[in-house]
Amino acid sequence: MPRTLITGGAGFLGSHLCDRLIEEGHEVICLDNLITGRMDNVAHLIGHERFRFIKQDVTEYLYIEGPLGYVLHFASPASPVDYQRLPIQTLKVGSLGTHKALGLAKAKGAHFLLASTSEVYGDPISHPQREEYWGNVNPVGPRGVYDEAKRFAEAMTMAYYRYHGLDTRIARIFNTYGPRMRPNDGRVVSNFINQALRGEPLTVYGDGSQTRSFCYVSDLVEGLYRLLMSNEVNPVNIGNPKEFTVLELAHMVLKVVGGSSTGSTGFTAGIEFRPLPLDDPRVRQPDIGLARATLGWEPKVQIAEGLALTIEYFRKQMAGFS
Ligand code: NAD
Ligand code: UDP
Repeated sequence: MPRTLITGGAGFLGSHLCDRLIEEGHEVICLDNLITGRMDNVAHLIGHERFRFIKQDVTEYLYIEGPLGYVLHFASPASPVDYQRLPIQTLKVGSLGTHKALGLAKAKGAHFLLASTSEVYGDPISHPQREEYWGNVNPVGPRGVYDEAKRFAEAMTMAYYRYHGLDTRIARIFNTYGPRMRPNDGRVVSNFINQALRGEPLTVYGDGSQTRSFCYVSDLVEGLYRLLMSNEVNPVNIGNPKEFTVLELAHMVLKVVGGSSTGSTGFTAGIEFRPLPLDDPRVRQPDIGLARATLGWEPKVQIAEGLALTIEYFRKQMAGFS
């Protein structure tokens, strides 16, 4: 039975990974300081004989008794609102935290997987983004704390691979959505859905012509699991290549929530334009050729279906169920 540590395991993605690895028969140790995560995300696993939760900051010395087969490093604030309100913690978890997680994997002879991001491409000049592209990041802009931390984390991971012979994987994750996002995390999908459900206008930043490509969480977890089980050491893009403008997303959310743009409160939820944040990437779309070829993976869930499942989750949360 593999024993696996997931840092950031009480977060949105980490908690879905805990579920998947428990299903695959792993013993899962979830380590999280709950800075942006929630115990609610793993509450259903508490008491499971193969699940253990440790409340700890991954930038502190890690002591885990017994063997470990895998270390998955997912700890990091991930929403732009979160990482800009927690800039030092974000830099520390990407640098010191990645170093600690790699050191633990080395000490245990474990396989290591880093949750990296499409943000390593910054505001990309090359489109769609292939793994060979080195990116266009402003190191001193507001997003630099996240982008540079993840770029450092990738460099550190490759150094452990090259210098220590550690068996490493790097997933470059593109915008992912689904149940267990925090309603107030500030990301576009959670903002739009919660605004629409409250009958408030959807806040579109800029003119909404910037693009993103949204992957439903079950597809992402499948891609991550296949990457973990593969031999691919180079970074792999994991995301849904179907690209939308933010304005298109707003209209899709309104359609799925209200049928006729009416929120559950009965008020019409229109659109309100707000200033575009500094350094907001103009476009983003993964080239998933490498994931298709090496992992035999591609996303399956269409946006309308994924949005409906996510809306259902937020509706229940609002009504007080989890
Ligand atoms: P999240 O904020 O829901 O989860 C992150 C988790 O890490 C939280 O539970 C938080 O409490 C924990 N954490 C943060 N700093 C920590 C520290 N120092 N020590 C211990 N725990 C700490 O975010 P998410 O969307 O689940 O993202 C998970 C990972 O995936 C992150 O590394 C993120 O950069 C990466 N990622 C996510 C997306 C996405 O669209 N969701 C896209 C690209 C990359
Ligand atoms: N965005 C928006 N309204 C919101 C939140 C975000 O128009 O209420 C835009 C944001 O400016 C960006 C895109 O949606 O262009 C995606 O933002 P998100 O915070 O989800 O993540 P990013 O892809 O920028 O990291």
